[in-house]
Amino acid sequence: MRKLTLLFLIFFLTFSFTQAQKPKTPASSEIFESIQKLNFLGSVLYIAAHPDDENTRLISYMSNHVKARTAYLSLTRGDGGQNLIGPEIRELLGVIRTQELLAARRVDGGEQLFTRANDFGYSKHPDETLEIWEKDEVLSDVVLAIREFQPDIIINRFDHRTPGTTHGHHTGSAMLSFEAFDLASDKSAFSEQLETTETWQPKRLFFNTNSWFYRSQEDFDKADKSNMLSFDIGVYYPLKGLSNNEIASIASSQHLCQGFGRLHQRGSQKEYIEFLKGNPVTDKSDVFSGIDTSWNRIKGGNAIGDILNAIEQNFNFNNPSIHIPELLKAYELLQNIQNEHWKIQKTKELKAIIEMCAGLYLEASAEAPSSTPNTSVKINIEALNRSNQNIVLESITQTDGKILDKHLVLENNDSEKFESTFHISENSDYTTPYWLEKKGTLGMYTVENKNLIGKPETPRSAVFNFNLKINNTPITISKPVVYRYSEPDKGELYRPFEIIPETSAKITEKVIIFDNGHEHTITLVVKAGHDNLKGAAEICHPENWKVYPEKQDVNIANKGEEQILTFTIIPPINQDEGYISPIIHIGDKTYTKELIEINYEHIPYQTVLLPSESKVVRLDIKKHGENIAYIAGAGDVVPESLEQIGYQVRVINPEDITRETLSRFDAVVVGIRAYNTIDNLKFKQQILFDFVKEGGNMIVQYNTNRGLKTDNLAPYSLSLSRDRVTDENAEVKILDPKHPLLNSPNKITQKDFEGWTQERGLYFPNKWDKAFTPILSMHDKDESDKEGSLLVAQYGKGYYIYTGLSFFREFPEGVSGAYRLFANMLSIGKDHLQPNQKLND
Ligand SMILES: [Zn+2]
Repeated sequence: MRKLTLLFLIFFLTFSFTQAQKPKTPASSEIFESIQKLNFLGSVLYIAAHPDDENTRLISYMSNHVKARTAYLSLTRGDGGQNLIGPEIRELLGVIRTQELLAARRVDGGEQLFTRANDFGYSKHPDETLEIWEKDEVLSDVVLAIREFQPDIIINRFDHRTPGTTHGHHTGSAMLSFEAFDLASDKSAFSEQLETTETWQPKRLFFNTNSWFYRSQEDFDKADKSNMLSFDIGVYYPLKGLSNNEIASIASSQHLCQGFGRLHQRGSQKEYIEFLKGNPVTDKSDVFSGIDTSWNRIKGGNAIGDILNAIEQNFNFNNPSIHIPELLKAYELLQNIQNEHWKIQKTKELKAIIEMCAGLYLEASAEAPSSTPNTSVKINIEALNRSNQNIVLESITQTDGKILDKHLVLENNDSEKFESTFHISENSDYTTPYWLEKKGTLGMYTVENKNLIGKPETPRSAVFNFNLKINNTPITISKPVVYRYSEPDKGELYRPFEIIPETSAKITEKVIIFDNGHEHTITLVVKAGHDNLKGAAEICHPENWKVYPEKQDVNIANKGEEQILTFTIIPPINQDEGYISPIIHIGDKTYTKELIEINYEHIPYQTVLLPSESKVVRLDIKKHGENIAYIAGAGDVVPESLEQIGYQVRVINPEDITRETLSRFDAVVVGIRAYNTIDNLKFKQQILFDFVKEGGNMIVQYNTNRGLKTDNLAPYSLSLSRDRVTDENAEVKILDPKHPLLNSPNKITQKDFEGWTQERGLYFPNKWDKAFTPILSMHDKDESDKEGSLLVAQYGKGYYIYTGLSFFREFPEGVSGAYRLFANMLSIGKDHLQPNQKLND
């Protein structure tokens, strides 16, 4: 009994909000397809490491053609990458990518699962990946996903047998899947999970291979395929008016923050999966061959199957509601099934089908998009039956404990509208991604509530349960509270209803650099979660730093309004760093979090609460030269960072690069991947080299070695490689300790290479003209020394520097050594200039 209640609890907790984001109004073709899926009792779990790894062609094929329940288990949420659509990085990028995966699944018909693994950045080898991921923990989550989802078929995106040939996360995902395939059925493995779930043995494991894994298409064509199954994933679905691969293209085009918007593909295409282990396939055209995927699969399922198969055979596209009496018979039989897993899953599907067939419209919409604990919010309720079936709204049970007794007969197409209130209790949880509530480690999120592990998003806490009697059969349909509104230029819109704190605060700058002992003014933005907010704000700071005033009054009249406060920060005399964070006192409560809103059209609106803090860095830094021209590449915050340490930085358009414009600057810095992204730059190289010849400095940051727009990167020969050092703590050896780059004006020591983040650098050159001096040497574990991370050459009167060091990652984290080294790069050859003196003065 205990197990059963827990299972139901999980079922209710997993209610995915997105299904209710904009109420579905499915056409009868979709209802028919849902019935086809209802009558298929088989499932596929696709496993890989990141958002965008998943093969949407295969997921869509399994879901829409085979009709299997299909899910994608992405071990991470993709926090480590770059964002092409906005400023969010790291955990906030993970929030966007989570939602993009959910958006992709809404298109291809799959479900979405995760583990607690964190995308900590590029990893060369699965050994490193699994160490940082705390292997047993992530393995435990993969086993849990298998035990809860109970897949018949598991398909890995990557090959578990080829470590070191791709991202360590990729191979790692396949290795964990390979191991979990057997462990899921082992009672002694992760036995604590068996309190809420049961063991499960998947039937078959495959690897989704293709020519990429075989060096070339030619090699793949020649490869022995006797152990492979293949499918035409270009099949056309007349009920949808789309081909499978068109659906897949639309699904993967949801990954917009990764620049995955793409043209649709259609027409016949082959996809291969290689059998790895489990029961061998008896019929190579059917991945489920030998597995009973009919209702006969479960005890007592026969009678249910008879009813539901008859509905599928004789489906009435003009009036699906006529099937409701038979669907209800099946529903009642289903409630007597012993197998909890199938009972829960098929009940969920069947209820949705009954709701769709009746054209039911049930909605609980709050009068405001958000509210705070200890308040009540007005809810507008709409209940509409668009069928001739006898449907009574008996009551509504709200998750705040309130029950509305109604006994309302819902007449065909006669909308019932009424109001309720929803009380948000004092200790109610705020709406925020559950995996970000506690600080995690480099490799793992911390999730205290074990019931949430694996869930794509935080279950909504404000839910209205509509207790109906449909032809006398009691059925409860749950709807999370939404906020419905309209905008004149957009039409009707929906947003999730959010529970937010009564106040939140943020310091506008995340990293504040003090390049001398002068004080800085910081801006604190305090936001009100309700009207008439009164309290006080102060800034927590390290002991040897000073902040004044100590406290300021907070007084905000309207909900949503912000108050801007300024504080003055005085750094200590010597080099130092630490964190400052705001505390807002309201009555006897204190608030320390920042409320971040993520608002893009392709995903639902999100709020994220994160600890509000900013890093303060007092640098011991000297510099020569002052005026910097910046040529932006793929985007980085290097210009802002250099301004923070007192440089005058002008971002110049590549078209504007002329001898005259450059003559005003001491140095030109080229942004990351500029030679991969800016066509025009190849025509400007000579002007830039001439600038160096006449005494300017030119610093070029990393470019990838593929897709360079010019072969003429430097005034001397230089070739890029894929050499990278991903371990941010890799030892740095100084090759030429006397070189001015390491001595003037700042003395660079090992200490300057401490506290780096994510990596040392990437795409280092591996061949260079003897005019270049390599300055540093470093390497990842078990690799040879890489000496191309920082190369400097005198050219005429100036210096050309090429560096693959990840300054673009270190600056935003306030890494002192990175600033000091970069200041030396800008200063080299400029000793004759006093600080703050211009070249052409
Ligand atoms: Zn990936």
